[in-house]
Amino acid sequence: MRGIGRVNVASRDAFPPLPSHYIPCRPHLTLLFIRDYLDNKPYIMRELRTVLSSHSLAVDHQRKVIKRTLGGGVVGHGGQTFTICGDFGLVCGVYAVPDTSFNWGRQAMAEIVERHESAGVELPRSLYMDCSCCNGKPGFRRLPLQPPGTSALALWRSKFTIKLDVMHLMLRIGREINAEHPRRKKFLVDLSRAIFFQHEGDYQSLMEAKKAAGLDGPPTRTERVKFIRRIVGDPDSVADRMMLVLQGHRELDNQCRIQAEAAGMKISDLSVADVAYPLITKRVIEVFKLQLIHVRNGCISD
Ligand SMILES: [Zn+2]
Repeated sequence: MRGIGRVNVASRDAFPPLPSHYIPCRPHLTLLFIRDYLDNKPYIMRELRTVLSSHSLAVDHQRKVIKRTLGGGVVGHGGQTFTICGDFGLVCGVYAVPDTSFNWGRQAMAEIVERHESAGVELPRSLYMDCSCCNGKPGFRRLPLQPPGTSALALWRSKFTIKLDVMHLMLRIGREINAEHPRRKKFLVDLSRAIFFQHEGDYQSLMEAKKAAGLDGPPTRTERVKFIRRIVGDPDSVADRMMLVLQGHRELDNQCRIQAEAAGMKISDLSVADVAYPLITKRVIEVFKLQLIHVRNGCISD
């Protein structure tokens, strides 16, 4: 038995060098993907047709993916992906479009309407959009909702209650404020609190359930997230509350400036990360005013 294991058979032959032609090049890989897509297209499309939503739909444009592709010649240099999501974030469709103009999404939306109608399923009533929720002018009036079953694809907008996604409203305001400003987060949290109210019915039910289980005290953060829905109040009161937040933070800007001046600091020398640097700039007020039009037009109210 001596000698067993003395020679490692695996190490006897060195591996030959990997021939570089085994590594697929980019055009080859692209071709493979396209070939695979074309082969499976009918099945993918059939599967996509079964993705339906019953409560709401949300549409969103994104630049992130397209800007990494070489598709400039096809979708233009402002290309975007246009995504339609249903309940629980289920993706109903992703499309490449040249820009955020809703002319491109119209065809996709018409297909979604037709998809629900041909399946005999009622359309979700609410559609959350990242743009084009109304005409952006005060006093915009919505078309009356069309009864389900009327199949005018050109009028797809009137089949939904169109809303502006609150996240986008906040993003539009938030991106005007420098990310390094120390009071930025507080301002956005205050704004969110001005927009959302807790659902009183949910709150009462939770408190009753807690009492029955012998638990005391106000709801914890986890309980709030899990059991209490947040609703958006009526347009005018939300707009008024948002204005109060803006005025409060403007006042804070003034106080910080006065304190900084009293401490001998020169306002023009402050960096954006300084607490005394104004948070509510002219630009913030301009964007805020535009968003208030959407709020007063009922674009975010439930
Ligand atoms: Zn609007």
